[in-house]
Amino acid sequence: MAKQAKSVIDTEELTAVADRGYYRGEDILNCDKANIETYLPKPQTSGNQAKGQFGRDAFRYIAEDNEYECPAGLRLVQHSTTQDKGRTLHNYWTYKCRYCAIKAQCTSGVHRKMSRWEHEEVLDEAQKRLDQNPDMMRIRRTTVEHPFGTLKAWMGSTHFMTKTLDRVSTEMSLHVLAYNMKRMMNIIGTKPLIEAIRA
Ligand code: SF4
Repeated sequence: MAKQAKSVIDTEELTAVADRGYYRGEDILNCDKANIETYLPKPQTSGNQAKGQFGRDAFRYIAEDNEYECPAGLRLVQHSTTQDKGRTLHNYWTYKCRYCAIKAQCTSGVHRKMSRWEHEEVLDEAQKRLDQNPDMMRIRRTTVEHPFGTLKAWMGSTHFMTKTLDRVSTEMSLHVLAYNMKRMMNIIGTKPLIEAIRA
């Protein structure tokens, strides 16, 4: 969608802001390659965190050494590279976990393993951008959430008038088109809008 928007707007650079439901490493990487700056929060899906153990963010990646620093201050080094669903992952651990005083808070396995996607630096950069611009998600909410509320109010508390995916999709597209046209009329006026459409 961001690529389509970039092409329609005919711009060299674009900023795309999305909620965590859209978080997908490959999409963030593709945006990066297409000169699209992304802002979206990472979903918290760590299995360890669900068990009350340290999450990924408790481990600090040290790029110059290609190692992770764990919450006990030890270094996890890269031992293997594996493939998972077409992704190349580098795996890091230390053999010293068995002597660790806080192991129970970290892993129930022999050692805690950290996997790092080969393009993880793009995700790290995206996270850094978001940390430096914490208002981005509030701006997203106030910019893109209210059109849906307005559309719902227009449609009333009823179902779609049509059935089957194609027809419902067309019905929704007409609502969105009507919303966009009304909004543009309010912002730039009817005459300039008609001129812009003709151009
Ligand atoms: S269990 Fe291993 S990775 Fe976890 S804090 Fe201890 S030494 Fe570090």
